[in-house]
Amino acid sequence: MKSRSLRAGAPVLSPGAAQKPAVPALRRGAATRADTLRVTEIFFSLQGESTRVGLPTVFVRLTGCPLRCGYCDTEYAFYGGEGMSIAAILDEVARYSPRYICVTGGEPLAQKGCLVLLRRLCDAGYSVSLETGGALDVSQVDPRVSKILDIKTPGSGEAGRNRWENLAYVTRSDEIKFVLCDEADYRWAKQVLAERRLHEICPVLFSPVHGRLAPEALAEWILRDRLPVRLQIQLHKILWGNARGR
Ligand code: SF4
Repeated sequence: MKSRSLRAGAPVLSPGAAQKPAVPALRRGAATRADTLRVTEIFFSLQGESTRVGLPTVFVRLTGCPLRCGYCDTEYAFYGGEGMSIAAILDEVARYSPRYICVTGGEPLAQKGCLVLLRRLCDAGYSVSLETGGALDVSQVDPRVSKILDIKTPGSGEAGRNRWENLAYVTRSDEIKFVLCDEADYRWAKQVLAERRLHEICPVLFSPVHGRLAPEALAEWILRDRLPVRLQIQLHKILWGNARGR
């Protein structure tokens, strides 16, 4: 997901992982089972995106993604990671005593165990959000989870992967996000918004690609066109730049 800009090669757990007991890691490749997952990192920070922006949140970043968006800032999550049982993930999350959990990636739904993890997190009483790229089926996601569903624009290079059937499973507690590369992307997103009346389904986020589309320009276009969308600027990049685990 376009959620964090991080440096490569950092450990699975951050920050403060050095002060914590080692997380029980399973053998590599074990995450193909429904009760284990490959995890790139688990960390505690402020939510940088969505209508939950600014809320202290534990992030569980799962490894792997079938897409290759041109602006992706989490390429380090494509490979590697550590196999962890769902029980071990729950134990690690609980150490932070959070209210909010965000399951992200990569593409979290690329691992079948993600659905089980989401359900177990909800069962544990957390307020759970899921960041998904929109190419994979969301119909089986626990209805207690708030889905942040991307619609990929032409500028991403992955617009052909949008799974439009997913819109049938989006509710008021979910959010739809467009990450925009340029004005052509903006015009495309504006058209999709109008044709599918997305703002009548749930909050819609327009987010500029960091360092590529000026937020000021996007703000002017939204105001000019009176669009019923929320401008989203990645808070964590304003606060911490590209620091990993923040
Ligand atoms: S869908 Fe995959 S490739 Fe695209 S921004 Fe998200 S993690 Fe990166």
